[in-house]
Amino acid sequence: MYNICGKINYKKIDVKPISINANEEEGEPESIARTKYLSEAKRKIWEVLFYCSSIYQCRKKAIIDYFAWPGDLASRECNLCDNCLRRASDNPVWVDIRTDVKKMLEIIKIITSEKQQITRNNVVDVFHQSQAKDVKNKFGELPVYLEKFSRKLKTKEDAFLLLDDLVLHDLVEEDIILTRSPTAQTFTCSIFIIGIADGAIAKANAEVWRYLIRTSR
Ligand SMILES: [Zn+2]
Repeated sequence: MYNICGKINYKKIDVKPISINANEEEGEPESIARTKYLSEAKRKIWEVLFYCSSIYQCRKKAIIDYFAWPGDLASRECNLCDNCLRRASDNPVWVDIRTDVKKMLEIIKIITSEKQQITRNNVVDVFHQSQAKDVKNKFGELPVYLEKFSRKLKTKEDAFLLLDDLVLHDLVEEDIILTRSPTAQTFTCSIFIIGIADGAIAKANAEVWRYLIRTSR
C-alpha cells in the first residue's frame, strides 16, 4: 500500500499485475492515448510523492511555482508553512551532492541489471550500505554495495528524496504496478525501479545538484 508521505510497503504479487508502463501497450491509437494518460498520471503521483517528502522546500512556493506561467514574477517563501518553520529551526546548509547522485545512478544501473524487482527501499538500502540481513543476503557480494563511500546525504529520508528527484528528472525509470487482491476488491500498489535512462550519467553531470541539509543533529 502506498502512504501519501512516502512510506511504501510491498506485498507479494500473486496475480497478474496491471502495469502502468509507458513502454507497453504500443500500437493502436486508443492504446497510445491510454498509455500517455497513464504515463502522465504516473508522473503526477511522483510529483506528489516528492512534494510530500521534501522537508525544507516551502509548500506554498512549490504550489505557486507549479502553476506559474512563463514570465510570472518569482514567488517567495511564505515563512509560515511546516517546511519553512523547519528550515528556520534546523538551519540547514546548501550542500553539493553531485557525488551522491553519481553513486545512486551507479547503484541503480548495477542492481537492476543483476537482480529482479528492485524496489525503492532496495536502492536506498544499498546506498546506505544497510547492514540488515536481507540486504546483505541480496546485495552483499556486489562491489557497488561493498566499496567505501562518503555520503553527503546522511539520512534515509534524504536518499528517498534524491531517488524521487532522479525519477522526476527522467534519469531513472520506474514502474508502478497495481495488483488486485484475489479475495478482496482492493488494489495493492508496488513501485519498482527499472533502471537508469539512456545517457543518464552524462545528463546528471551537466546539472547542478544542491540540497539543503541539516548539519547538526
Ligand atoms: Zn513556506
